[in-house]
Amino acid sequence: MPSKVLFAPVAFAKFEKSQTLPAKFERLLDQTGLEKIVGGKKTAVKMHLGDGLSYSTIAPVFVRTLVRKLQGWGARCFIADHDVINRKPDERGYTESILGCPIVDACGMTGNYMYEKKVSYKSFEVMDVAGEIHDADVLIDFSHVKGHGGCGYGGACKNIAMGCVSHRTRRGIHGLEGGLEWDKEKCIHCNQCIESCNHNANEFTADGIYSVFYHNCTYCGHCVKMCPTGAITTTGLGNQYEAFQEGMALSTKGVLETFAPGHVYYINVLTQITALCDCWGLTTPSLVPDIGIMASDDIVAVESACLDAIKADDLIPVGLPLGIELKGEGHLFERIHGKNPFVQLEALERHGLGTRNYELITID
Ligand code: SF4
Ligand code: SF4
Repeated sequence: MPSKVLFAPVAFAKFEKSQTLPAKFERLLDQTGLEKIVGGKKTAVKMHLGDGLSYSTIAPVFVRTLVRKLQGWGARCFIADHDVINRKPDERGYTESILGCPIVDACGMTGNYMYEKKVSYKSFEVMDVAGEIHDADVLIDFSHVKGHGGCGYGGACKNIAMGCVSHRTRRGIHGLEGGLEWDKEKCIHCNQCIESCNHNANEFTADGIYSVFYHNCTYCGHCVKMCPTGAITTTGLGNQYEAFQEGMALSTKGVLETFAPGHVYYINVLTQITALCDCWGLTTPSLVPDIGIMASDDIVAVESACLDAIKADDLIPVGLPLGIELKGEGHLFERIHGKNPFVQLEALERHGLGTRNYELITID
């Protein structure tokens, strides 16, 4: 039995307001069934609030539309992300007065409000579910779809696995990729690795040695990707992107287990689909034309539908850095990052979180 995925496409028939994506999004929300679930409930809307100079996270107009709908159905709504204070969301238009509800750090004002759970997968032994997410009655997983250097793809799973947990958990998942190694002979001391680190985790010592403060390091891989000479590489188990994806699936499962059945809903926004994750603090041009918004109560189904809709044949070359070309075969994200994004979906499916068999229902 296929899971239903609602689809509001950007494609339009006429120059009319009713044909625009915000208008279609409102009609999509009316078909989600959330009206019967959220009344009187503490409802967490988990989204990525961007960082630095990024402008491709979900536009405030869609967040406002969602919040107003949920509140109209009686939800007690709030928006959550991790590290909210450091991200400065107001600089990108995300304020309570614009969005219509409070914006909170998922781990509380101190960043230390969380609930520990056992995971026991390789070096990823424990995880912490963010306290504000754990205590919510309903979770709306509101995700911007894009590529991701660590696992190829970032959508609904990544928004939960990395965004509804503690720093320690993110480090545990990234740690499955292996550690970092620096090759002195290859280093030209351009400093790009230091500038690309959003966690104050690396520096050059007074005698010019690359040093990582692993307490802060989330193994995000930004320094590895930015290094023009390949002087920084992941070590340990090597590039274990499949283990990374398994870790993401387990983290997602750990978060979802804290909600009653039917109390989590997934909305994926496929606009400004860029090569890299929103946490880089920058936005590059879109890889493909905007597609629309997809939504489902099945995380695997909605992620599958999104990945299927993003096609290498639709590549807009300016979405890649000058001189970079697609490699090999497979999904567009695999041809950019060398990592098969479907591994993530297979892991989610194996853990009983949904099905890749979906039926697309288009919203006119
Ligand atoms: S992996 Fe990420 S957090 Fe760690 S040093 Fe490199 S850029 Fe910083
Ligand atoms: S980005 Fe690479 S080459 Fe540049 S300073 Fe860092 S390690 Fe050295």
